[in-house]
Amino acid sequence: MQKNDVIELTITDIGVDGAGIGKYNGMAFFVKDTVIGDVITAKITKLKKHYGYARLMEIKEASPKRVEPRCMYARACGGCQLQQMSYESQLEFKEQKIKGNLVRLGGFSQEEIDDVTEPIVGMEYPFEYRNKAQFPVGYDKEGNVVTGFYAGRTHNIIANTNCPLGVRENQEILEAVLSYMREEQVSAYEESTGKGLIRHILIRYGFDSKELMACIIINGKALPKERALVEKLKKIPGMKSISLNVNMKNTNVILGEETRTLWGADTITDRLYLRDVRDFSRTKTSTVYKISPQSFYQVNPLQTEKLYSLALDYAGLTGKETVWDLYCGIGTISLFMAPRAKKVYGVEIVPQAVCDARENARLNGIDNVEFFVGKAEEVLPEFYGKGSASGGTDASESMEDMKDMRHPDVIVVDPPRKGCDGKCIDTMIKMRPERIVYVSCDSATLARDLRALVDGGYEVRRMRGVDQFGMTVHTEVACCLQRKDL
Ligand code: SAH
Repeated sequence: MQKNDVIELTITDIGVDGAGIGKYNGMAFFVKDTVIGDVITAKITKLKKHYGYARLMEIKEASPKRVEPRCMYARACGGCQLQQMSYESQLEFKEQKIKGNLVRLGGFSQEEIDDVTEPIVGMEYPFEYRNKAQFPVGYDKEGNVVTGFYAGRTHNIIANTNCPLGVRENQEILEAVLSYMREEQVSAYEESTGKGLIRHILIRYGFDSKELMACIIINGKALPKERALVEKLKKIPGMKSISLNVNMKNTNVILGEETRTLWGADTITDRLYLRDVRDFSRTKTSTVYKISPQSFYQVNPLQTEKLYSLALDYAGLTGKETVWDLYCGIGTISLFMAPRAKKVYGVEIVPQAVCDARENARLNGIDNVEFFVGKAEEVLPEFYGKGSASGGTDASESMEDMKDMRHPDVIVVDPPRKGCDGKCIDTMIKMRPERIVYVSCDSATLARDLRALVDGGYEVRRMRGVDQFGMTVHTEVACCLQRKDL
């Protein structure tokens, strides 16, 4: 067996990154764009000692789980991995992935996990769900300005203004910017040379408010014929905010620090509704959020409502509880919990997000929340230590508040993919809250952290996947832990 050999495989399994797995001569081969049950031919692209990679050549027998991808760029584009799989099979894959990670990496038994897991919550319609997209701008082979998505593992742009995961409004905005660039001869930024002007187009859409934001990220201070662009964009129904963001650094980071509004408002707003967790129908209770180009805001608002309603249910609040919301971002979870708690303390590392969180609290008339800027693994131990060392007399909080902060009833965490820092987990265990609600976007690090919490005296009571990212391999999961001695 060697590289470039074409082999026939039956796909019998799927890896964590969504590639199908088939065995040939006892060796496992990973083949992208395949589905369990497919019989295929594939060309070997890489051989390792015990496994290899191969490229799909022909589907000889299609699996019943296979569907026709909706987007013609599904295979080449780096955005989606699972479009060839029916949505039902995607959910099945995600549930198995979560459980598999908890067993393999967390050392839990399959039975323990099966006992506490509730069925994954899917989307009603797994397309057009993203409220935010950042489109790189560049040139095609003929030298025309184009915008779209990067091909997998590269920075080559696949020209496509109509990504099916985004809202339909994206297309009109992107076409307006491209036609302005052609008419006014405005250049696109080129990573290789660091020359050219327009780098990215950022679009955000309020699903509830129907408000649109367009932000043009440029390698310069201003646009030529700025008004010509504004005239085109402001005509688009729903347009509320048009801005420029300056990023003159040679970096992969999309946004620079300086943003200037060209037309309309600096921000758009959106509203998230509390859902009834029995059937995930919307209740009348809702929270509004102001969103700026830089704000972190969950990209799938309909599923976020389900996820946070579930987190709130897991928190089991009665109105008397003190809650820490770690990794709180713009305070989304904090503001969901505050009306049902005595007090909520949020911790977030990005100062601007904390400003947004405070502003969002005011906007909703919520006054029993307080936000701290800093790392969860530093802020939490600091408060825990403070109480025992100085009795909290040097802080603005009263003795009573300090006691509640050191021994909260509930701690909620929603960390980035790398999970919680060990110091954060240790302090959570020392604080001995009755319940811990863990919202995770990576079940591998969740497995590691749950193991530490369980070894520290907690038990996993309930767990449920919520699919926020249809067609991709990513998924969110909410988890409820309770102190074992209760
Ligand atoms: N719960 C929020 C945000 C979740 S995303 C929401 O739904 O809107 C994770 C957040 O953790 C991000 O806002 C990120 O800036 C923040 N973060 C990352 N590392 C952190 C750390 N060590 N301590 C505190 N916050 C951190």
